Amino acid sequence: MNKKNKKFSTRSIHIGQEPEKLYGSVSLPVYLTSTFKQEEFGEYLYDYSRAGNPTRTNLEKNIASLEQGSDAIAFSSGMAAISAIIHLLSSGDEIIFTKNVYGGTFRIMDKIYRNFDIHPKWVDTTDIDTVEKAITKKTKIVFVETPTNPMMEISDINRISEICKNNNCILVVDNTFMSPYNQRPITLGADIVMHSTTKYIGGHSDVIGGILISNDNQIIEKLRFIQMSVGAVPSPFDCWLVQRSLKTLSVRMKSHNKNALELSKNLNLYEQIHSIYYPGLESHKNFEIAKKQQLDPKGKPAYGGMISIDLGSMKNARKFVKGLEIFTLAESLGGVESLVCHPATMTHASIPKEIRDELGVTDGLVRLSVGIESIDDLKNDIEKSIKGL
Ligand SMILES: *Cc1c(COP(=O)(O)O)cnc(C)c1O
Repeated sequence: MNKKNKKFSTRSIHIGQEPEKLYGSVSLPVYLTSTFKQEEFGEYLYDYSRAGNPTRTNLEKNIASLEQGSDAIAFSSGMAAISAIIHLLSSGDEIIFTKNVYGGTFRIMDKIYRNFDIHPKWVDTTDIDTVEKAITKKTKIVFVETPTNPMMEISDINRISEICKNNNCILVVDNTFMSPYNQRPITLGADIVMHSTTKYIGGHSDVIGGILISNDNQIIEKLRFIQMSVGAVPSPFDCWLVQRSLKTLSVRMKSHNKNALELSKNLNLYEQIHSIYYPGLESHKNFEIAKKQQLDPKGKPAYGGMISIDLGSMKNARKFVKGLEIFTLAESLGGVESLVCHPATMTHASIPKEIRDELGVTDGLVRLSVGIESIDDLKNDIEKSIKGL
């Protein structure tokens, strides 16, 4: 079977997943080993599990295929993957980031890599002119997160990739909120795609992981060397768990997309909700870009499972969350179970209030990670809680 030309959901189950040779086991073994026997000096497929492990290779091949890259490099967390990207830089270099990136990305630059004379610039990447103006001769990487958390702002990957090519910069896209099912940045011109596999790819809120994908063999080689040298590698069992999750990525994402779109339309009906941020609503300020760049493998617009709503005050937000039964108050996202989070006191608590308000992360803002439960139950859960406000 030529697996490479098969469709997305077939590849997610079969690439890197040939039945094991010894016993024909269809579910692949977890190679729990630190080292490997060598037949001769220097003759081996694998020598040491920091450098490589068959369970990890299986996962890397699989995700690479889904993102349409030539290879992938797995890490022990999303932050370890981001850290490996920064290791591509030298002191004195500049790196441009989407202004409202994931909090951990801001923290690692501001508190750790700043000490190594690497200069982050925080830029509104939804505005192409601003990106172009921010680039200097020292800029080596542009790191875009789209959609952003929790405001769901969307940057045009294709147009930013043109600017990067003209200026010899590497374009990295944090694709965590979309998963490869909803958005494939390499096909839009990105050089590296990054995921926290903890979220949609893992999908069951039971594993921490990260991965980088590229179709540029020079970049792959450098990142592979960083992975091996720095050593923030995932355990074979974590790789196995993430691979197991990928097999159901298509069915899960279809359901997340459908549930969130329907729920966002329903939320529109309540006057207690001051604003709704969901890229699938025509009222969303970046709806047009979302519609053309966030596509499922069949080419249909896919808007994801994340919705933010503004309830006007901390008091309302707290009461709303207390009234929910199915949505669980917790950080993280992308699992089969619906979660709710209050960014101002949770994910964005370290950001000063004035800046939070400027970003739109008000005290009344609540973020929903819409799971794959029955949409009727989810709608009822929200309705009951909103009516109690
Ligand atoms: C969670 C997350 C990360 C960090 O990943 P970890 O697996 O928690 O280290 C990075 N970017 C985004 C968008 C995330 O949601």
